[in-house]
Amino acid sequence: MKNYDVLIIGAGSVGVPLAFYLAKKGAKVGVIEKMPSVGRGQNRAAIGGIRATHSDPAKIQICQRSLDIVRRMEPEYGFDVDWVQGGYMFPVYDHDTEKKLRNLLEYQQHFHLNIDWITPKEVEQLAPGITTKHLLGATYSPEDGSASPLKLIDAFYVMADYEGAKFHFDEEVIDFETAQNKITKVITNKDTYQADLIVNASGGDARELCAKAGLDVPVYPDSHEGGITEPVKRFFDPMIVDIRPAKGSANYYFYQNGEGQVVFCITPDPKIPGKDCDNTSEFLPQVIRRMVNLYPRLRNLRVRRTWRGLYPMTPDGFPIVGYAKEYTNMLLAIGMCGQGFMLGPGLGEILSEIIIDNNDEYDDILKELTLYRNFTGEEKLK
Ligand SMILES: Cc1cc2nc3c(=O)[nH]c(=O)nc-3n(C[C@H](O)[C@H](O)[C@H](O)COP(=O)(O)OP(=O)(O)OC[C@H]3O[C@@H](n4cnc5c(N)ncnc54)[C@H](O)[C@@H]3O)c2cc1C
Repeated sequence: MKNYDVLIIGAGSVGVPLAFYLAKKGAKVGVIEKMPSVGRGQNRAAIGGIRATHSDPAKIQICQRSLDIVRRMEPEYGFDVDWVQGGYMFPVYDHDTEKKLRNLLEYQQHFHLNIDWITPKEVEQLAPGITTKHLLGATYSPEDGSASPLKLIDAFYVMADYEGAKFHFDEEVIDFETAQNKITKVITNKDTYQADLIVNASGGDARELCAKAGLDVPVYPDSHEGGITEPVKRFFDPMIVDIRPAKGSANYYFYQNGEGQVVFCITPDPKIPGKDCDNTSEFLPQVIRRMVNLYPRLRNLRVRRTWRGLYPMTPDGFPIVGYAKEYTNMLLAIGMCGQGFMLGPGLGEILSEIIIDNNDEYDDILKELTLYRNFTGEEKLK
């Protein structure tokens, strides 16, 4: 039987940064991953957006930390992760959306986030050639940005490995043994483990995995598609988010990455519940029509690849983070919805401080994201 101080289930957006920060603090860390390498769950499906401009204190705090970490990846740790501080821009073409975003703006500014209303002229400067007919302005947060999900998780993996974290790939957790209020054994298809603390970071599989320990967690994946074009010379900087609903989709967003490729995805409406990751022939015509309408300059770009992945959703659109009441040695870091990539680094560092240093500075985050909330709230920008 293998023994660890902390055993993390899942080498994804959340599990890998967490492994690094825990190992750096001296913990003996094991990570079990059913795939052959890191990031092959939903991390690789993410398009790479990172923003702190959310609508609730927990995600704001976690993503502010993520931004700080990702910005320092190259100067401090020597990893080029394609960080581009292009900002997030939500262009507005109708008064309803303007009202909604301006209300949110007040809230976000209350948290000292660098976000403001910009004029149509300023919108055009940031995205030359964007449709200006009926354009009322936009919200713009210049400190947000993007990075490569593949490069970032790889950087964390190299650093975690260097700090001594042990990764067990191609190995699936299939069961737990419990006694009183403790997980006494984690059973995989290859081995058996014991740990002082087990962190469940299993993404879209969290519900099935938790059920094996008798825990009912409301994580219900739904499918989202993304795509990427050929690289071209940079012609716009921000992540552009169009939140006007249209037939078949609630919103869509796109940006130009560090290599000049335009990366994009759409939020289907109605949702597509389940774990289907086969891409469809519907996605491209749907998203491209909307993108070219908003930004005609995109029309000559050639799309290189599309893919489909999952958002591990919760009913209120907020993650589930914290200790399970039922077991003294199980911590949940699941239900990351459409934001696990941007939450992962900050959450990893914060959780390491909670776990190793018993830091109670983050009690508010744990309270907001507890499994034992009523899930009736709603994320305004999910
Ligand atoms: C099209 C698309 C675009 C997106 N864009 C963004 C974006 O721009 N920004 C952003 O922040 N987020 C984005 N996301 C969301 C993001 O990808 C997810 O929220 C995030 O990857 C979830 O992180 P996770 O660590 O919870 O799960 P994962 O990264 O999926 O990691 C969980 C890991 O657990 C492993 N696992 C599961 N069960 C077991 C088991 N029993 N035993 C062993 N291992 C197990 C899985 O194989 C997986 O590797 C996007 C998602 C999609 C689909």
